[in-house]
Amino acid sequence: MLKIGLTGNIGSGKTTVAKVFELLGIPVFYADDEAKKVMVTDEILINSIKQTFGAGSYFDDGTLNRKYIAGIVFNNEAELQKLNAIVHPATFRAFDNWLQQIKHAPYVIKEAALMFESASYKMCDRTLLVSAPLENRMARVMQRDNVSRAEVEKREARQFTEEKKRQLADDIIVNNDWQLVIPQVLELHTLYLSLAKN
Ligand code: ATP
Repeated sequence: MLKIGLTGNIGSGKTTVAKVFELLGIPVFYADDEAKKVMVTDEILINSIKQTFGAGSYFDDGTLNRKYIAGIVFNNEAELQKLNAIVHPATFRAFDNWLQQIKHAPYVIKEAALMFESASYKMCDRTLLVSAPLENRMARVMQRDNVSRAEVEKREARQFTEEKKRQLADDIIVNNDWQLVIPQVLELHTLYLSLAKN
């Protein structure tokens, strides 16, 4: 099964683009949402989180104590990396399981914000970057999440620059204020269908 890795910096429109592919019948795995789910469903992961960060990581009813975890990893790069290092393999397992359920799709898309930063793009056959000017991205996220410019800048600073991602990506969709996205998606859909046949 052809696997397309879809990524882009904060506010670029990854999810918006992914929804268009879904409308075309292409299954999309939202890796960042799944990463949150596996933290309460994957027993191997739950055990390693408890071992690494302490039993207080979970409440007695099995739900994740997000405040506790956030208190440890917030502004602490080393702890955040530790958490990512144990969550990523569980997300990969979830992706593999998901993939096994897909029977009739020509190709699939895996959407993840930090696909290049985490090197997980190497597990996809091809990568697609959604690119948008910084000003557009800032304005969209400030409006969507009701956060300050400084907050968006902080999140942006944790990601590779768009320039670097452009060099790594196989395909690019430009999602600025004036270029239409749907024709770009349709063109790539045609390409991916032909690649999937070969
Ligand atoms: P994040 O990395 O923060 O999750 P994302 O890359 O998935 O973001 P989206 O959530 O798809 O981005 O888009 C960010 C916001 O911008 C959303 O509110 C979306 O509706 C809006 N948006 C996306 N594309 C456009 C566009 N071309 N014009 C105006 N608004 C847009």
